[in-house]
Amino acid sequence: MNQHTISILILDDESFMHKLLGRMLANLGFASISACDNGHAALELIDSTSDSPNLILLDLNMPEMDGLEFVRRLVERCYSGSLILISGEDERMQQAAEKLASAHKITVLGHLHKPASPEGLAALIGKWMPPRQSEPRATKKIYDADEVRAAINNGELVNYYQPKVETSTGRVVGVETLLRWRHPQDGMVFPDQFIYVAEAHGLIDDLTRVVLTGALAQARVWLETGLMLQVAVNLSMDNLVSLDFLDLVVGLAARAGVPAQMMELEVTETRLMEDLRIPLEILTRLRLKRFRLSIDDFGTGNSSLAQLRDLPFDELKIDQSFVHGACESDKLRAMFNSSLELAKQLGMKAVAEGVEDQADWNFVRQAGCDIAQGYFIARPMPSADLPDWIQSWQKKFSL
Ligand code: C2E
Ligand code: MG
Ligand code: MG
Repeated sequence: MNQHTISILILDDESFMHKLLGRMLANLGFASISACDNGHAALELIDSTSDSPNLILLDLNMPEMDGLEFVRRLVERCYSGSLILISGEDERMQQAAEKLASAHKITVLGHLHKPASPEGLAALIGKWMPPRQSEPRATKKIYDADEVRAAINNGELVNYYQPKVETSTGRVVGVETLLRWRHPQDGMVFPDQFIYVAEAHGLIDDLTRVVLTGALAQARVWLETGLMLQVAVNLSMDNLVSLDFLDLVVGLAARAGVPAQMMELEVTETRLMEDLRIPLEILTRLRLKRFRLSIDDFGTGNSSLAQLRDLPFDELKIDQSFVHGACESDKLRAMFNSSLELAKQLGMKAVAEGVEDQADWNFVRQAGCDIAQGYFIARPMPSADLPDWIQSWQKKFSL
């Protein structure tokens, strides 16, 4: 980041904040700083120059146009810079404002509580980097049923595996199977672009059969090489509408020579089921046969207490939206801790999803969450990369 080419606007109705923030920014090496004391003046400034500011420090509470209205005006102008929100509002209010701005696709670096501290400001600006590409993604395209069917039949679907580690020891205890489509023209296509198509067009059983077959063959190889890993596979609720699915899973595992205990089935409630009797029967009987059951994305609308009440889950995966950043947010931490407590009281293993950085990792370890999964530990990878990754991870932990 080159401080000299970056322009920053301070928008706050209190002039002492202009001085305070201006000085902090100057100390951080920024030279191009302007200030306005109301939204109209700021919009005028933005409209009159060809380059809008790269960063706006925005006060939420201003007498005429409040900060949220200003955000809406920025959206109308297709503002492509970043925002830092500043106010005396409480944490939950600030987070709500942040969520709102993010929902408008404006990059919010974070919020600062008034009077902002130089360290707090420096930390937020330090996070300011070009948006990180999680994995090289193909541009979003809508695929139709024929294309997804062809992908299934032509072997274009491949399993990636993301490690899960025990937080107390760093030991790699398992992997989650995550499906990728190696599209011959479009490159790597991610599940959010084709799972729903498969579900809507009666292709989900074929798709799941491919994923399971691959994961079981891989589990067998790991078993033979002495690698003791739990292998998790995501199921769709649409897989659970016919009892044939039970026979399919049991049959595939037996044929692959993989003990049921090694397999874990992750479920979310992707849509409301009118009749829960068959899904309940399938999952309960799979559990009776010693397959492990995991409730995925716990805490989101898709994953509810009712499911926990009705099914004998072995594992609860706390959704990533309650994990990443929980150490900095009272609200997220409260939700994280209550999910963790629930898992403990019900005798389930708790998994933190979306452990993205060192702070998340420290937090989940210290909170006593059993297992962690996320980019900080490793991204999903092809099976061939796993042995080397385990070696380097173990070295890092000097296990
Ligand atoms: P999920 O089961 O909750 O899987 C976790 C998702 O979070 C994966 O996305 C994973 O790549 C991503 N992830 C992992 N660590 C991090 C992190 O630190 N930060 C962030 N931001 N994300 C992280 P992916 O692979 O794109 O899969 C998305 C969803 O698609 C999965 O969510 C799962 O519900 C579904 N899915 C994936 N594979 C299958 C499959 O074989 N069958 C079915 N039915 N659904 C699948
Ligand atoms: Mg999952
Ligand atoms: Mg999840």
